[in-house]
Amino acid sequence: MAEETLFSKIIRKEIPADIVYQDELVTAFNDINPRAPHHVLIVPNMVIATVNDVTEADEAALGRMITVAATLAKQRGIDEDGYRLIINCNRHGGQEVYHIHMHLLGGKPLGPMLS
Ligand code: IMP
Repeated sequence: MAEETLFSKIIRKEIPADIVYQDELVTAFNDINPRAPHHVLIVPNMVIATVNDVTEADEAALGRMITVAATLAKQRGIDEDGYRLIINCNRHGGQEVYHIHMHLLGGKPLGPMLS
């Protein structure tokens, strides 16, 4: 069983966060340190530490993360111009919180992916 992080407390609403979407599989909330006009984190409700820990049992939640990202992008009117989805993994990927999460970034040109 993976260790809980602050994201589990956000999901359970034990600590404050700007939750923009929640269902039985995933929760989405605004990043506390936004790197773009729209910066949302989309996380599975169950703890999965990293992409390395993903199993087939997680596929429904992981798929939901993408459909929620697409829905939020459309609601915010950033779908046509486009946006970026990022999942960081471990040290070299720049992962800081070990509860898998997808960054949805948009609302401005984001430049080259690798810089
Ligand atoms: P990572 O580098 O991919 O692990 O991203 C972790 C993200 O979590 C960073 O963008 C942080 O700004 C964000 N973050 C950390 N703590 C909180 C919080 O309490 N609420 C919302 N976002 C947070």
